[in-house]
Amino acid sequence: MKGTLVDRGRTFRLPLTPLSLLSTSYFTWKEKKEMIRLILLLPKIAAKVAENENLQSWAEREISSPRVRDYVYCLCRLSTYCSNPELVTARIVLEQLKLSMHGVLYVNGGWQQIVDGLAKRAMQSGATILNQHQVTSINGAYPEITVGVLNDKVITTKHVLSTISPAHTYELLPAKEKEALTVLNQFKPVFGASLDIVFNQLPSPRISFALCIDQSLYFSNHSSGAKLGRHKHQMVVHVYKYLDVNEEYEPVKIKKELEAFLDLLQPGWQKEVITSRFLPRMLVSHALPDNNTKERLNELQVLDRVLPGLYVAGDWLSDKYMLADAALSSAKQAALSIIKDSTRRGGVVYRHSGTL
Ligand SMILES: Cc1cc2nc3c(=O)[nH]c(=O)nc-3n(C[C@H](O)[C@H](O)[C@H](O)COP(=O)(O)OP(=O)(O)OC[C@H]3O[C@@H](n4cnc5c(N)ncnc54)[C@H](O)[C@@H]3O)c2cc1C
Repeated sequence: MKGTLVDRGRTFRLPLTPLSLLSTSYFTWKEKKEMIRLILLLPKIAAKVAENENLQSWAEREISSPRVRDYVYCLCRLSTYCSNPELVTARIVLEQLKLSMHGVLYVNGGWQQIVDGLAKRAMQSGATILNQHQVTSINGAYPEITVGVLNDKVITTKHVLSTISPAHTYELLPAKEKEALTVLNQFKPVFGASLDIVFNQLPSPRISFALCIDQSLYFSNHSSGAKLGRHKHQMVVHVYKYLDVNEEYEPVKIKKELEAFLDLLQPGWQKEVITSRFLPRMLVSHALPDNNTKERLNELQVLDRVLPGLYVAGDWLSDKYMLADAALSSAKQAALSIIKDSTRRGGVVYRHSGTL
């Protein structure tokens, strides 16, 4: 992918491919050599990093050039959405970076296509999907768990798989069980701010992707890789800021930063806007993977004893994978556990006896 790298207001060729790395004027030859060495060694490095080392401590030891280090942080932000190298586990981030080196697929119609396709397959297999039903409580234990839904409806079932955030799952539990599961409140969610714009056309169409080194900013014209707008010529663009998990942000200030980034990349963009929305604090992931992730996940193993029949899945439940990979792997694991439990007890996997 051709792209632009921005550093302190100056633009360079983004060194994402071997060719662009050799031709970019951003790095000196010495820095290019260090970057090439890192890319070549990445598969081995990722596997060798100590389990509890954070990204910053790894990078300060392994990368001598501060500019190469900042660029590696920038690539890690891009592939993990985490903007806290001093907290995030190096091993998991480098594994994710390794995965993203294979390239990215942009889906025509966006993520909704995947969600719709999955929902269709589930319904074809006999699942009932209730949209717009906010769960307000989870009570009881196997073999009779009741799930309260807004509007006083109740579903009774043997097993529940909660895929909402750990903190929200905690909120839904009875007071007694909460005491043993306070670990659910110890996961730190990751947020981002996004300015999404549909353009008639882009003032500088040759710039479709950009990363900023000195600020945690990203620009992408997703329409250059997938069909997203209603009309062929329309461009769906995301300008994004990776948020630090420990900082408070003022939405107005962030919006100005994102607009200034657009001014630099697409001067005169305001004239081409069809519609836009600004999301100052969008949830990206339910947990930043840090050095305590493993410990927290171990602590959570009491769930089976405290609330038999309740399972959890989501992107916060892995010390190996991140984001959607973590959500899917934990969901598969939970589903297999439910099937195993049902088979062991000689029951059916799912019984819907609610009043919905
Ligand atoms: C801009 C952006 C880009 C991303 N790009 C990528 C990417 O390229 N690759 C990647 O792997 N990941 C990406 N991610 C991250 C990915 O979207 C998440 O990791 C993933 O969606 C997490 O899945 P989850 O099932 O754990 O949680 P969620 O997707 O957050 O799902 C939880 C669901 O529970 C619902 N819910 C909450 N409370 C209740 C309640 N009380 N009752 C009923 N329902 C409730 C919520 O509405 C939500 O739909 C991106 C995220 C963002 C924001």
